[in-house]
Amino acid sequence: MTQAARSGCANNVEGSSRKATSRETETDIRVEARAKQENAPDCPDCGKPMARRKARSGQNSGKAFWGCTDYPSCTGLRNME
Ligand SMILES: [Zn+2]
Repeated sequence: MTQAARSGCANNVEGSSRKATSRETETDIRVEARAKQENAPDCPDCGKPMARRKARSGQNSGKAFWGCTDYPSCTGLRNME
């Protein structure tokens, strides 16, 4: 009885981690589409469109900046003007 309950729990963890992965991909696509609408600048490192982002922590917390839509593969950044 106890073993059956444990394996059921493990299955739940696996299922939720798969959902998170597909949700991340959806968000990436949406960010890229929005970047084009706003005439965002191109990334200085790889040339892809950039997306408006907000720093969540650190010195610039709450400050908006341009971040590469290819993040985290590319960490190109631009300051908002
Ligand atoms: Zn880039």
